[in-house]
Amino acid sequence: MYDDLKGKTVVVTGSSKGLGAAMARRFGAEGMNVVANYRSDEEGARETVRAIEEAGGAAAAVQADVSKNECVDALFDAAMFSFGGVDIWVNNAGIEVASPSDRKSIEEWQRVIDVNLTGVFAGCRRAIDHFLDRKMPGVIINLSSVHEIIPWPHFADYAASKAGVGMLTKTLALEYADRGIRVNAIAPGAMNTPINAEKFADPEARAATERLIPMGYVGAPEDVAAAAAWLASDQASYVTGTTLFVDGGMTLYPGFQFGQG
Ligand code: NAD
Repeated sequence: MYDDLKGKTVVVTGSSKGLGAAMARRFGAEGMNVVANYRSDEEGARETVRAIEEAGGAAAAVQADVSKNECVDALFDAAMFSFGGVDIWVNNAGIEVASPSDRKSIEEWQRVIDVNLTGVFAGCRRAIDHFLDRKMPGVIINLSSVHEIIPWPHFADYAASKAGVGMLTKTLALEYADRGIRVNAIAPGAMNTPINAEKFADPEARAATERLIPMGYVGAPEDVAAAAAWLASDQASYVTGTTLFVDGGMTLYPGFQFGQG
């Protein structure tokens, strides 16, 4: 637990389920005010809010499609209305769609980029403007992926968006470091969330994924939530512009694990 987080306000995009819900709950447990954003799954977001409130925290569910800039502004306004300010902004919402690149429509490509990259930029922009306006330090955490650096056939849009998130994170970190604004990314590997539910329902597909993880098992959403809490806290006060990989070693060239190569 991080005492300095208590009473601060955090916005977590896409927190109706998966990693966003786990991070929102962890922030609630840290005593923070949590703005739990959702796009369409109102019940999921309400569930996240309920869990935080039952644990004694304060939270509000706010609908917004992060791929639309006016919705991101409205999300920020709702956070201001509920809690009077924002200290930490987590750009978590993301989507993935599989299709061979020669068959991928421009519309599909654009949708993924709009949510995963432009949506992240819109959130960063809004939060940074607020931090500068109040002359306050602030923290931004962007959800990247191991596909920030690992190519992924059939997911060219997703991989390109996550590589973009990595460079966006570094660039903004450099641009605002002297104003006390820290910008970092978390790159999860294979985690047990709804985005992977279909794949992991098939034991063979799950085993194939596990072979790519040197630690040998799929991660839990709480692993990412723990990294997010640390990055948000003053314990990480000298950390900016980095991508923290939470991947059980997936980016360590697992094919070389037992001396091959
Ligand atoms: P998920 O599908 O379980 O949840 C994604 C969340 O984002 C949902 O709440 C969804 O409603 C929300 N969302 C989607 N589009 C949105 C939009 N336009 N506006 C607002 N909210 C929107 O996914 P997850 O596994 O929890 O992944 C969360 C993030 O972590 C994503 O950015 C994903 O790319 C990244 N990630 C996940 C994994 C993994 O293995 N689960 C691995 C690497 C990276």
